[in-house]
Amino acid sequence: ALSVGIVGLPNVGKSTLFNALSDAGAEAANYAFCTIEPNHGIVPVPDPRLDALVKVIVPKSIVPTTIEFVDIAGLVAGASKGEGLGNQFLAHIRSVDAIAHVVRCFEDDNIQHVANKVSPTDDLETIDTELILRDIQSLEKRLERARKQAKSGDKTEKLALELCTRAIDELNEGKPARALELSTDEAAIMRELDLLTSKPVFYVANVGEDQLAAGLDDPIVARLVERVSESGAEVVVISANLEAEIAALEPEDRAEFIAEAGLDEPGLDRLIRTAYALLDLITYFTAGEKECRAWTIKRGTKAPQAAAVIHTDFERGFIKAEVIGWRTLIELGSEAAAKAAGKLRIEGKEYVVEDGDVMHFRFNV
Ligand code: GDP
Repeated sequence: ALSVGIVGLPNVGKSTLFNALSDAGAEAANYAFCTIEPNHGIVPVPDPRLDALVKVIVPKSIVPTTIEFVDIAGLVAGASKGEGLGNQFLAHIRSVDAIAHVVRCFEDDNIQHVANKVSPTDDLETIDTELILRDIQSLEKRLERARKQAKSGDKTEKLALELCTRAIDELNEGKPARALELSTDEAAIMRELDLLTSKPVFYVANVGEDQLAAGLDDPIVARLVERVSESGAEVVVISANLEAEIAALEPEDRAEFIAEAGLDEPGLDRLIRTAYALLDLITYFTAGEKECRAWTIKRGTKAPQAAAVIHTDFERGFIKAEVIGWRTLIELGSEAAAKAAGKLRIEGKEYVVEDGDVMHFRFNV
């Protein structure tokens, strides 16, 4: 499963958020939240389209698609030099596909702030600096190798030498690797380096309940938004404490509580969807009477590779796919009715699966 690492300074609300995600997932309909390790959790991706599909199909079981969250605690200033459990935490970040950077925007004198003041921009810089410093170490190692090998006239190594030199300069100015402009060949070299600041990131502004109504306009949150606006990164405003309270309620009591808090939906739903979109993931469905299920693929995946997510045999023996948009299926009520109405499309190996497609694969065994 694709995974999102929750990072941030100590005491910003990471664990509260992670536990809320775990609790919310634990009670999602027909889906057992599973904790792989204490700080890893698989969370169902909320999807109103799946909810609508199952109302029409009424299957025996419903399986949402999932995303993995990892609570990466303990990142402190100096981590790149091995402060705290620095190396270990940076290694954890290496293993995730995207980063949810939690920033403290709530004020509460009872909760100590590591730097003794609530300043989202300073906090952000502290974490970014550690990640950047670690990346510079990786780049310097690569540069050294390139220097040695470029002497023999190797083209890739010559390019790597130029690229690493430029990247080190830019990172030294505080730029993350994801902000570098790269040619295709350079991007290939960078991918191999798997830098921490190359990973896609979004920010979670953890606010107090009283700040929720203002959202992105809250004065403290606004500072964070302004700071990251140039990068185009998304900021999700959430109250981790409130989310934890919501997640602890019985599912049937949640809607009322959420409405009373002035929210349209749990903030966690927004957070999960943001992560999903950031990873450039889309969902297709299978809609049988036995099971309705959501499946995750990268945007741009062709039908046989999309089928492989269900089973590798489906890809190997792929013949064709019967495809219908989720809306059309809901309007017509069943795949059979859709077929009768001529709304079932037959697609081949080159078909690029679209978000919301309901797929039925035909294959040889
Ligand atoms: P972590 O170190 O980043 O994992 O932070 P925790 O999740 O353990 O939270 C640290 C403390 O801050 C705990 O006592 C939380 O209850 C508290 N906390 C978390 N979110 C909020 C919030 O939105 N408002 C307030 N007032 N306290 C919060």
